[in-house]
Amino acid sequence: MITIRNLRKTYQMGKVEVRALDGISLSVKQGEYVAITGASGSGKSTLMHILGLLDVPDDGTFEIDGTDVTKFSENELAAFRNRVMGFVFQQFNLLKRTSALENAALPLIYARNGRRQDVAREKLELVGLGNRMSHHTNELSGGQQQRVAIARALVNHPSIIFADEPTGNLDSKSAKEIMQVMSELHAQGLTIILVTHDSDVANHAQRIIEIRDGKILSDTPNPDAPKVPENVPSKNSSKVRKTSVFQSLREGEVLLRQSLRSLLSNKVRTALSALGIMIGVAAVIAVVALATGAKKSIEDQLSQLGTNLLMLMPERRMSGGVRQASGSVSRLEEEDTKAIREQVPHVSYASSTVSGNAQLKAGNKNWNCRVEGVDPEYEIMRSNQPQLGRFFTEAEMRNRSRVCVLGLTPVKELFGGANPVGQQVKINRQTFTVIGVLPEKGSSGFRDYDDTAIIPSTTAMRRLFGKTYVDRIEIQVDESDNLEQAQKDILALMAHRHRTGTRENPFDIRDMTEIQETVSSTGDVLSILLSGIASIALVVGGIGIMNIMLVSVTERTREIGLRKALGARGQDIMMQFLIEALIISFFGGFLGVLLGVAASLITEKTSGLEVLITQNSIILAFVFSAVIGIVFGIWPARKAARLNPIEALRYE
Ligand code: ADP
Ligand code: MG
Repeated sequence: MITIRNLRKTYQMGKVEVRALDGISLSVKQGEYVAITGASGSGKSTLMHILGLLDVPDDGTFEIDGTDVTKFSENELAAFRNRVMGFVFQQFNLLKRTSALENAALPLIYARNGRRQDVAREKLELVGLGNRMSHHTNELSGGQQQRVAIARALVNHPSIIFADEPTGNLDSKSAKEIMQVMSELHAQGLTIILVTHDSDVANHAQRIIEIRDGKILSDTPNPDAPKVPENVPSKNSSKVRKTSVFQSLREGEVLLRQSLRSLLSNKVRTALSALGIMIGVAAVIAVVALATGAKKSIEDQLSQLGTNLLMLMPERRMSGGVRQASGSVSRLEEEDTKAIREQVPHVSYASSTVSGNAQLKAGNKNWNCRVEGVDPEYEIMRSNQPQLGRFFTEAEMRNRSRVCVLGLTPVKELFGGANPVGQQVKINRQTFTVIGVLPEKGSSGFRDYDDTAIIPSTTAMRRLFGKTYVDRIEIQVDESDNLEQAQKDILALMAHRHRTGTRENPFDIRDMTEIQETVSSTGDVLSILLSGIASIALVVGGIGIMNIMLVSVTERTREIGLRKALGARGQDIMMQFLIEALIISFFGGFLGVLLGVAASLITEKTSGLEVLITQNSIILAFVFSAVIGIVFGIWPARKAARLNPIEALRYE
């Protein structure tokens, strides 16, 4: 069954070479019970590890049933260990905080053949632990623990059992029981290869091989071997069945449960590493919600101010570094407004605007606010249809009538919010009649758009502010595509009307749409910047997870070695650690979403700022935490997956 020839293994210890195996040749037939003995350090364990496919020789040939196993890939070796071999170690190597049943069932996870707990139960009964299935390993005696390990070795119906000093850590009574179990297994047709330095133990075997310094000293049949019944050739029931979707689901479930258990066994550590992700996700969600909300409220206000608007004003010239007063060079006149309205194509409306601050007085109440003198067209241009009363007419404008339309803030301050239409109000000591109330425009934080009073531009110029010129002209163009052309035409018209000749045009025209776009793109930049800062928290959280996973890999090196010895492939180990990292980051991400949403809502309630939690930011946060889990989990997971089983098992 097993044939090895000229096997060599040399360990390099700094400058010293240790020849653990020095040209070993032997063959073992199916159903044999072989003991390998020798003094400590003679190379017994090394030989057993190579025979058990846990380690590879430097040189020599190794065939199992005629197959050259030295050419096997890692995964093939793992599958072979899992299905054909069972291992019993001196240190039992059971998983802590895990029941006997789950320990015995461990190789089944990596067998992928659908057989489950019932086989593990059956094998535990076989070794006499039928009444200890749910006991945790720390609740079992040494002998019982070793019997769990034997049940584990048997669970995949192997054809060979390897046992390395199985009684080394046991009292003589337990040792006897274990050797009894071994003999029974042999009687059932299993091939057993037992490593021991104890000749009493070796005497249980039919054949004793003694090695010294990596060489075979003697290989003799044992006449004292206890009589066993005729060998029944073991039926090899370890064929790999096809995995169905159902089985993959069950495997997934087992993996998930395993990861959850290991995370739960370190609750504080898990919670702390999830905390980093939680804070990061919460910060991203809250910041994006705030930035989106702020941007939306600014955009809403800007769009209320009217669309396709241009503003024409005298250019403020710099002269010798001193900014001259507005309009000191050229001044706009009412006639300019008229000309623009009538002569420039695509212009829908135009309004002269004169503004200044004034004191309003009604009864015994005073209020200072901005007074705008405009043309009647301003009502449509700026969507200023009064919510109460009416706007002023062409006739009132021609007559320089003392009429005004008040914004909500002066109405509140002067009339306590009561309907002021028809009432008198004094503006800079001149009596005006209130004819309407403006619609609500809101405030943008730095400016209250409702704190205004609107009067005819003629009245403002000639009666209120004593000006003969207008401050600026607001123009509405029919379509946004025509904005550029209209700007050129207006500037040309102004140059012509003011006879600037070859001098630089003294007027400046601004596109309000551009201002809107600037504001909203500033909002975008701001929100990207802020979420960038917030995602630093996420990255820090991810590094926290990586750190914890690396610690966990180191701490569980022996466990990883055991799992690999029992047939876990590199990708199984990798999966286990990745799933753990993912669970931490999803858990953190989920709490982070809750915290982020709560923080946003609380901010909205307490500060009155508008917040907007978008579905996208939540999806983004989740995707981000998954990515973090994978990215920062991969390194530790790969580190774990690459461990050599025997070195990992020996790790202290
Ligand atoms: P035994 O099991 O017979 O006591 P081993 O097979 O464990 O002996 O070891 C054989 C020799 O190889 C010993 O001299 C031991 O020190 C050496 N050896 C075993 N494993 C290693 C290792 N990983 N690195 C270096 N030397 C080792
Ligand atoms: Mg040893």
